[in-house]
Amino acid sequence: MNRCAGASTISRRSFNRMAKLLAAGAALPFYNESVLAQLSKTGPIPSDAVKINANENPLGPCAEAAEAIAKVIAKGGRYMYEETDTFVSALAEREGLDTDYILPFAGSSDPLHRAVLAFTSKEKPFVMSSPGYEAGGRAAQFIGARVVQIPLTSTYAHDVKAMVKAAHDRKAGLIYICNPNNPTATLTPRRDLETFIAKLPANCHVFIDEAYHHYAGESSMYRSFIDDPIQDERVIVSRTFSKIYALAGLRLGYAIASAELVKRVDPYLIWSSINGIAVKAATAALDDVQSVHDFTKRNADTRQEFFNQAMARMLKPIDSHTNFVMMNVEHPCPGVIEHFQKNGILIGRRFPLMDTYVRISLGTSSQMSEFWRVWDMLPFAKMMQMNHLKS
Ligand code: PLP
Repeated sequence: MNRCAGASTISRRSFNRMAKLLAAGAALPFYNESVLAQLSKTGPIPSDAVKINANENPLGPCAEAAEAIAKVIAKGGRYMYEETDTFVSALAEREGLDTDYILPFAGSSDPLHRAVLAFTSKEKPFVMSSPGYEAGGRAAQFIGARVVQIPLTSTYAHDVKAMVKAAHDRKAGLIYICNPNNPTATLTPRRDLETFIAKLPANCHVFIDEAYHHYAGESSMYRSFIDDPIQDERVIVSRTFSKIYALAGLRLGYAIASAELVKRVDPYLIWSSINGIAVKAATAALDDVQSVHDFTKRNADTRQEFFNQAMARMLKPIDSHTNFVMMNVEHPCPGVIEHFQKNGILIGRRFPLMDTYVRISLGTSSQMSEFWRVWDMLPFAKMMQMNHLKS
């Protein structure tokens, strides 16, 4: 398989579209968790700040991946196309898929951007939930596609009925499903998603983002669309090496789609953007099933401890199926975010529709102790606890 060869087959329609974008001065701005975190910061950030704002794995890559990184440095002067092919083959074997269904990218926000380019336009809106991961919506806005935002349900699931309606009424080009959802850390049941996909218009595509897949595995509500695919040509599923595998800084993710869809997205790809060090690290990490298990367990323990601490203070975070927690602080979040920043802790940004909630990524145990120490310094923390005890 030589994936670079495929990149030269650009259809006339795709080419015209791309040419129009470029003529409009469009270098598509790129948004991912780290860019969005940067955009939301207020004031300078000390280099020793506690960073629990971008849903990273605080433990760093597993030993096998770290070793692969160290070994590959000496080869850094060479292009590494074959390494990418080896990675895709290893992944295909792991997922029981043909390599033609897998597209590697520099992170998984990247395929989302490309899908927006391929399937949305002025006439074909992008539909997403709110609050949700903003990257796709921002890309759609940039190319002039309308972004239809559907509020989450009362259980913080995607409102799939409203999304189907929006897809029909607005003639949507692409629907974005983030499961588990960022920033609420919640799940949309698999059976609801299946029913939803079956009811979509024939030419509407669905992008299912499984960035937090490994943290959701224990829930009976959740079933991955990669592990258990459905036969539907309109579905693209993405995953990333930025979360459980702790390779966020090296940039690697992938999308799984039918061979036909892969062909449609292909003109929007830049094959040479895949980082050789990242693919070597990821290939090694794929083999290390035990580390994935250990990271997941550590995250579950840290999450449980977070809930214990929150409950001791009469706080009620939303039940989390990820490596972060969304918590109602009953006060406007900008002041709370600022309080933490002044005390050297970065927590998640502000999310519309949830203005009294803060998003906290689960860090190491010392980072979480520091979080609670600074929480207890909030002027309203004690009062809130007492009010809840009285009521
Ligand atoms: N999708 C969602 C919902 C995310 O929250 C993130 C990162 O925080 C990503 C994808 C992955 O980003 P990337 O793989 O580009 O690092």
